[in-house]
Amino acid sequence: MMARTLVTHTGGCHCGAVRLEVDAPRDLTVQECNCSICSRSGYLHLLVETEQFRLLQGKESLSTYTFNTGVAQHHFCRHCGIKSFYVPRSHPNGYSVNLRCIDSDSLGKITVQTFDGRNWEANVAELRRARTGQNNE
Ligand SMILES: [Zn+2]
Repeated sequence: MMARTLVTHTGGCHCGAVRLEVDAPRDLTVQECNCSICSRSGYLHLLVETEQFRLLQGKESLSTYTFNTGVAQHHFCRHCGIKSFYVPRSHPNGYSVNLRCIDSDSLGKITVQTFDGRNWEANVAELRRARTGQNNE
């Protein structure tokens, strides 16, 4: 297994209240999901472990939306409405960071994979293998 170098990406919501850091490779593979909520917001998933993620500021600005099973915690900024990260149902002990909310300076090559979230139960195993920063090729 080749060690992959992690860099610290920064990002956050639109108004600047929520700021975050995530340790991940420069070149990233992200998931574009077609489920009811992701397709409406154009969210691009960067799935990471808890220890790769840090909320720098804005905890008090977050509101949380839940639906269906209530497992996923859809955190969004209550000022600007942007969901820059959340706790996904597929990775309840990790985070999904929205690639679209990462400051672009640190980003290399981005590969977008499609995920069929409309058929979540049938496909979630594939998503659980897709944790960034691990050897998942
Ligand atoms: Zn905001």
